[in-house]
Amino acid sequence: MLEGKVALVTGASRGIGRAAAIALARAGAKVVINYNSREAQAAEVAAATGGVAIQADVSQAAEVERLVREAGPVDILVNNAGIARVQGVGQATERDWDELIAVNLKSCFLMTEAVLPGMRARRWGRVINLSSVAAHVGGVVGPHYAASKAGMLGLTHYYAAHLAREGITVNAISPALVETDMVTANLNATPDRIPVGRFGRVEEVADAVLLLATNGYITGQTLHINGGWYLA
Ligand code: NAP
Repeated sequence: MLEGKVALVTGASRGIGRAAAIALARAGAKVVINYNSREAQAAEVAAATGGVAIQADVSQAAEVERLVREAGPVDILVNNAGIARVQGVGQATERDWDELIAVNLKSCFLMTEAVLPGMRARRWGRVINLSSVAAHVGGVVGPHYAASKAGMLGLTHYYAAHLAREGITVNAISPALVETDMVTANLNATPDRIPVGRFGRVEEVADAVLLLATNGYITGQTLHINGGWYLA
């Protein structure tokens, strides 16, 4: 399905990014596994997918530039890297805000801008942004996290509207409580919040990544993968 395409997944050393990279590789794409600090885990994903692992902190413009230069032409970009510092009302400092917005939101802008010239030249591209239920209902992490994820939806809408005629689709996925390190480290994240009665599985989010990578007629949309959270 995706033979001949190159997919770059940010934050693919574990969790949802890892599952997305594996699903994209199974569908025939060559995958680039970006990670920040967990080199051994990224190497394991690269070995499992036949891809390459590249370290880069995607909140830094110079590192994004290097990452995209080393990766070569990218056809499918999955903006997945993110952090979730659990800090409720009155707890996050200005520094916490700046850091979280840089890792979760600025990275999405920097990565997208860095790969777009190539996608536009080839008139084919897929950008898939990992937002969150937090963008829609506030969530269980903190105000900075909810704002960063809502900001990703704004980027999704803007790029989708301006790139639709160029063969490039841009969409978001808003998961809730998928069983990864991010969720198991958060005491506010419990399966009883989810109508289906359990945490989501990373493969269930990877399914949506694959759909958005292969479909050329869905753009500017958000897929909600949240076990019915809205019904709660
Ligand atoms: P996770 O298990 O905590 O993994 C986070 C990934 O992001 C890791 O690969 C990490 O790399 C990478 N990363 C963090 N900071 C980075 C940076 N500055 N530069 C490059 N990579 C960086 O998270 P997850 O649960 O899979 O979540 C993936 C995405 O889905 C996130 O954007 C998250 O906000 C979103 N999401 C998750 C859920 C959920 O329920 N799990 C719900 C809604 C949205 P290292 O391993 O090298 O540190």
